[in-house]
Amino acid sequence: QVTPAKGGKILVLPGDHIGPEVVTEALKVLDIVEQATGAKFERDFDLCGGCALDKHKDSVTEEVLKKSEQVDAVFFGSAGGPEWGTAQPNPESGLLRIRKRMQIFANLRPCKFASKTMVERSPIKREVIEGVDFMLIRENCGGAYYGNKIEEADYACDPWEYSRPEIERVARVAGALALQDDPPVPVWSVDKANVLANSRVWRRIVTEIFEKEFPHVKLQHQLADSLAMLFITKPTAFNGVIVTDNTFGDILSDESGGLTGSLGLLPSASLAGAPGTDLGRNSVGGVVGLYEPVHGSAPDISGEGLANPVAQVLSLAMMLRYSFNMHNEADSIEEAVAKVLDSKADGGLEIRTGDLGGRATTKDMSEAIQAEVKRLL
Ligand code: ATP
Ligand code: MG
Repeated sequence: QVTPAKGGKILVLPGDHIGPEVVTEALKVLDIVEQATGAKFERDFDLCGGCALDKHKDSVTEEVLKKSEQVDAVFFGSAGGPEWGTAQPNPESGLLRIRKRMQIFANLRPCKFASKTMVERSPIKREVIEGVDFMLIRENCGGAYYGNKIEEADYACDPWEYSRPEIERVARVAGALALQDDPPVPVWSVDKANVLANSRVWRRIVTEIFEKEFPHVKLQHQLADSLAMLFITKPTAFNGVIVTDNTFGDILSDESGGLTGSLGLLPSASLAGAPGTDLGRNSVGGVVGLYEPVHGSAPDISGEGLANPVAQVLSLAMMLRYSFNMHNEADSIEEAVAKVLDSKADGGLEIRTGDLGGRATTKDMSEAIQAEVKRLL
């Protein structure tokens, strides 16, 4: 078993618009974790996105890129907004450059219906969505989105390339995450091996890694098109870990976000290695990672204190889990969020922001979560 880290060093990049509003609230939860556990998180605040463009005429500076390579984790808010509409480089490019520098190849998006409120907000029928709990891993540094592209007036070609090390390392992330549960949860590897040569190699190498390194984890293969349908009709069939390439992962992760119907609730992690291996290991024995909500900077509601802080707070929980091995604290934060989201359903006061159909402010929601985390830790 891994020992929980006693904190570590984080780079905080709040970004633009609601980014700083929700990051501030999430860090109050981190303060509570520090007080309760004695862990100490050294926080370095810097700029990325439109704020960096305004100050440095670049979406991220070399200094910040260097820092992102040296810390145990990066905690990111959101970047961009209409005021930088025509700016070059665009504000979003800062995060892409950080991703590349950190080599965070595994993008994790949990899809977990942990609260009654989430079930109720989903556009999918309750009996179909209740109990869904999977982790989708998207390979994020290779595949069809990279490589030498050909673009002519009447011809175009995107090479869809993967080589063994890229497939092996993301397969290892899937195996390692499956092993975090006891007994291990099943893993689905998603591809189009019926038509793509690339997918056939993907399938063969993933199978090899599981046979050799994760013999006790059940691996199944699933075609991407069929999974897209089953996500809507029978999503609980995939409770466990799903691992797929960049293109399928891009599409399927948006689909899985759509299942919840609430942008303000969805966290994400991007890891540079697999938990429990040497690859991507940080200075405190966790995995180097970048954590950010799925939502953007929401310029339409920024400055009014109306943003839902939950996605950012749940991203903090993911950071504690993967970069600092603080599983108990991560569990408590997730439990606290579910409790607050369900306060009305459980006969208490409604504490919901506008995106959830309520009238609470960022502060109301954050304070309720903080109180619950304090109670649990
Ligand atoms: P981006 O290109 O950065 O993804 P976007 O406009 O596509 O930007 P968001 O910035 O996420 O996406 O905003 C989409 C909608 O969801 C907006 O109406 C925004 O107000 C709302 N929204 C996003 N995040 C939150 C949040 N945390 N709380 C409340 N509403 C939110
Ligand atoms: Mg968007």
